[in-house]
Amino acid sequence: MPDVAVIGGGIVGLAIADEVLRVHPDLDVEVHEKESSLAQHASGRNSGVLHAGFYYSPDSMKARLTRVGNKLLREFCAERGIPVRDTGKVVVTRSHDELPRLHDLHQRGMANGVELELVDEQQLAELEPLARTSGLALWSPSTGSADPVAVVEQLAARVRERGGRVLLGSSVVGAGPGWIATERDGRTSVGRVVNAAGLHADTVARWFGVGEEYRMLPFKGLYWYGSWPAGRLRRHVYPVPDPRNPFLGVHLTVAANGRAKIGPTAIPAMSREAYSGLHGLSAREAWDVARTLPRFLTSPHHDARALVASEVPKYVHSRLVGEAAQLVPSVRPADFRVKGRAGIRAQLFDTSANRLEMDFVVREGPGSLHVLNAVSPGWTTALSMAREVVASWLP
Ligand SMILES: Cc1cc2nc3c(=O)[nH]c(=O)nc-3n(C[C@H](O)[C@H](O)[C@H](O)COP(=O)(O)OP(=O)(O)OC[C@H]3O[C@@H](n4cnc5c(N)ncnc54)[C@H](O)[C@@H]3O)c2cc1C
Repeated sequence: MPDVAVIGGGIVGLAIADEVLRVHPDLDVEVHEKESSLAQHASGRNSGVLHAGFYYSPDSMKARLTRVGNKLLREFCAERGIPVRDTGKVVVTRSHDELPRLHDLHQRGMANGVELELVDEQQLAELEPLARTSGLALWSPSTGSADPVAVVEQLAARVRERGGRVLLGSSVVGAGPGWIATERDGRTSVGRVVNAAGLHADTVARWFGVGEEYRMLPFKGLYWYGSWPAGRLRRHVYPVPDPRNPFLGVHLTVAANGRAKIGPTAIPAMSREAYSGLHGLSAREAWDVARTLPRFLTSPHHDARALVASEVPKYVHSRLVGEAAQLVPSVRPADFRVKGRAGIRAQLFDTSANRLEMDFVVREGPGSLHVLNAVSPGWTTALSMAREVVASWLP
């Protein structure tokens, strides 16, 4: 009987399995991943940005975990020979009206202990000649990029090297205190269960009576790759975000291989794995989204109408590229034509507070631990989150 069964072989589940084995090498740990290969969902479909940690409210888990997570992920990449591109990142203003929010972001970063600098237009031109700002910009030297798929594969390799099992094609169809049931092998006894099921984490949590106030409101992100030579854009270039919404606005990032891309968008998806066309659409999930969306749209806690009004037009390629051109004027629609792999965020809506959940949620249940709302920067924070949750749950 395994001591710990992890549901979900994304970066969060693998990081927790890895940490349990590091601290307790004698435990028998297995990870169940329903797909036949790794990195099929958010952990392999994200921007690959190692965030610095300056966006988040200082009292949040996101703030606490990002700076350390960035450091641990860099160390992991160095250990496993995965290149990290030290791009740094600039946050630019599209007009002087955005300067107060840029200052707020700077203050927030300082409160979170993140290395940050306000720079003028001339300094910005030295850091990233292609970017434009109105007066001031924010410079974050510790933001970077790495290949998210390589990170997940190497983390799975380390779990196996530490004696754990990563079981692919192992879909968990039910679980409770002391047991799990997989489609392939039926019901088996286990010691404890970790729920790291990403887009399905709310469903798994409900099996244990945990997080019943949450409903999944998936948001899809589309990317467009540029035809520019690798390295032409040197830094990630982001706009000043709207603090009332959890997404960062359309931005340009530099992938680990040096290619520039625009995205991701943040458009409500009707199903959790509906990456393209009708593939992945589920009537039950679409019904859940349809009954949650009106509550989100009328929530006083977000500017949801503005979010939808700004995001939906981004389905039109020229509009999306047009927005990116406000940050980097040399961007042209004809240069950004190659679609990247779309990703879907496991965003939860809290029906008791009537708002999108802005932070990670980690809860203990009977014989179980649940990681909910593992949205961005959950890839950067996977290793620091694993350290923190294992230290308190399985000291
Ligand atoms: C578009 C986009 C861009 C992002 N950009 C960034 C970024 O630049 N930097 C950053 O730090 N973060 C980013 N994120 C966030 C980051 O990708 C996630 O926080 C992180 O990948 C979450 O990892 P996870 O393991 O929880 O989820 P997942 O990667 O979704 O893993 C969960 C796994 O559980 C499996 N599973 C589900 N149900 C079951 C079941 N019943 N049985 C067995 N297996 C199951 C799934 O198949 C899946 O593989 C981004 C996310 C998106 C969507």
